[in-house]
Amino acid sequence: MAATKTFTREEVAKHNTADDLWIIIDSKVYNVTRFKDLHPGGAHAFLDEDIAGQDATEAFYGLHLHEVLERPQYQRLQLGVVAGEQPQIYGKLAGANSDVPYAEPSWLSEGYYSPYFKESHRRLQKAVRELVDELIYPDAQARELDGKRPSQSVIDRMAELNVHAMRMGPGKHLKGLTLMNGVFDYFHELVFNQEFVRCGARGYGDGLNAGCVIGLPPMLNFGAPALRARVVPEVFSGKKFICLAVSEAHAGSDVFGLQTTAEKTADGKFWVVNGHKKWITNGVFADYFTVGCKTEDGFTVILVERGAGVETKPIKTSYSAAAGTAFVTFDNVRVPVENTLGEEGGGIFVMLSNFNHERWVMCCCSARSQRLLIEACMKWIHQRKAFGKPLASLAVVRAKLAQMIARTESVQHWLESITYQMCNMSYKEQANKLAGPLAFLKMYSTRCAQQTAVDAVQMFGGRGVTQSGMGRLIEHYYRTVPFDGLLGGAEDVLADLGVRQAMRGMPKNARL
Ligand SMILES: Cc1cc2nc3c(=O)[nH]c(=O)nc-3n(C[C@H](O)[C@H](O)[C@H](O)COP(=O)(O)OP(=O)(O)OC[C@H]3O[C@@H](n4cnc5c(N)ncnc54)[C@H](O)[C@@H]3O)c2cc1C
Repeated sequence: MAATKTFTREEVAKHNTADDLWIIIDSKVYNVTRFKDLHPGGAHAFLDEDIAGQDATEAFYGLHLHEVLERPQYQRLQLGVVAGEQPQIYGKLAGANSDVPYAEPSWLSEGYYSPYFKESHRRLQKAVRELVDELIYPDAQARELDGKRPSQSVIDRMAELNVHAMRMGPGKHLKGLTLMNGVFDYFHELVFNQEFVRCGARGYGDGLNAGCVIGLPPMLNFGAPALRARVVPEVFSGKKFICLAVSEAHAGSDVFGLQTTAEKTADGKFWVVNGHKKWITNGVFADYFTVGCKTEDGFTVILVERGAGVETKPIKTSYSAAAGTAFVTFDNVRVPVENTLGEEGGGIFVMLSNFNHERWVMCCCSARSQRLLIEACMKWIHQRKAFGKPLASLAVVRAKLAQMIARTESVQHWLESITYQMCNMSYKEQANKLAGPLAFLKMYSTRCAQQTAVDAVQMFGGRGVTQSGMGRLIEHYYRTVPFDGLLGGAEDVLADLGVRQAMRGMPKNARL
């Protein structure tokens, strides 16, 4: 509303009875006479002598999110503003960087420098942030709640901007595409991952083509040209969806214990695939499945297309059904041998090289998502008072924040250093040299994230486990952060992998 009418504070103070009740929040004057009876906290909250006809800014922000004031039904209560005063408080500013300390990585913080991020990364970051805040964030919040898959209108807009292609990272697949910026390396891809995760909607985040991010690289790197020419444009245009189908009920961490089989027909023209896959992200709505199969020569990766003999059923997990997590069965599914990705029997290399990239993506997301908690906690401890003082005045609370910040900064800087290595190594070199460091980084990031979630819940108290209101993000994060510690390799498995990789390089003659 155009609230141009002005009042003095003395005028507002006269409206301090149950039948004529005004309050001030951040210089805005509201008539709450009728609303007080609808207020979930009861009418008495307004009739306190410090609130009725008074400035209720502190009381309001001690209990409510800023976005409440932006809802139309509350904006309608606004009568005008206090003469000579301006609103001082803002909530989430679409497209803008946060100025809360440590809410952004240092390369995006005013006055700090980076050896890695150049002008093109900054331009991309700005464009992606606008896209996320204006288009994706509202869809994420709505779909996370209703459990429906991300809206096709969002997928289509991302396709128009070639975002699906860019999220696959640098490579030949970007040739000829108009990019949001022009050049593209792994730091540009990092920007996408870190901006998207700001939606703070873990299930939706996976629903938004995570299956493609982990399921398409085998096609891009190992698919036959004719197959690539058909499948890749369909996926990049948002018309078809792909997922990675490796895990089975009997084979999660022990990937190569999988039991899905692919046998050749007598004429050698088809594979016949039989078996099941469990927890397949986007599997519910996928058209293509990048499937790990046991074959005569060992282990082979095959692209299976949805059709006769393919069935998918949703699996209910503790995050939103928007992710489309599926149990998939293959019952005598005939697949042309041209759909083989990489060599027959060469699936181990296809999968292992893919795991590195998947884990790196998860590290990008984990590092950035931890900052969402830091930002929320920073705001909360300044808003929330206990024993007459803001929580920020308590040393024990500040100590928790110190650990959160140190963990997040260390994860981000380690990530940037590994990303730099990726920019300077071939895909094959990365597979060899970075498997260990990425395993450690992912293990470390997700442990840090889980500790930060626990600390944030402590800081938010009851609100930290409440699905609406001020602690909404904290509750969501705490509930969904264990996913990161399991998917793409469980923490314990990765820790051991990292050490075993290091031991391979142990000189035989090294002694104390
Ligand atoms: C929501 C969700 C989405 C997923 N999406 C996909 C997908 O899109 N595609 C796909 O293929 N898979 C997917 N997965 C599967 C995921 O990769 C596996 O859950 C993961 O690899 C762990 O396997 P598991 O659950 O069978 O655990 P298990 O292998 O049974 O392991 C259980 C625990 O035992 C311990 N453990 C096991 N082995 C070792 C070891 N060698 N050293 C030390 N500790 C060990 C670890 O603590 C581990 O957490 C998804 C899973 C979930 C829950």
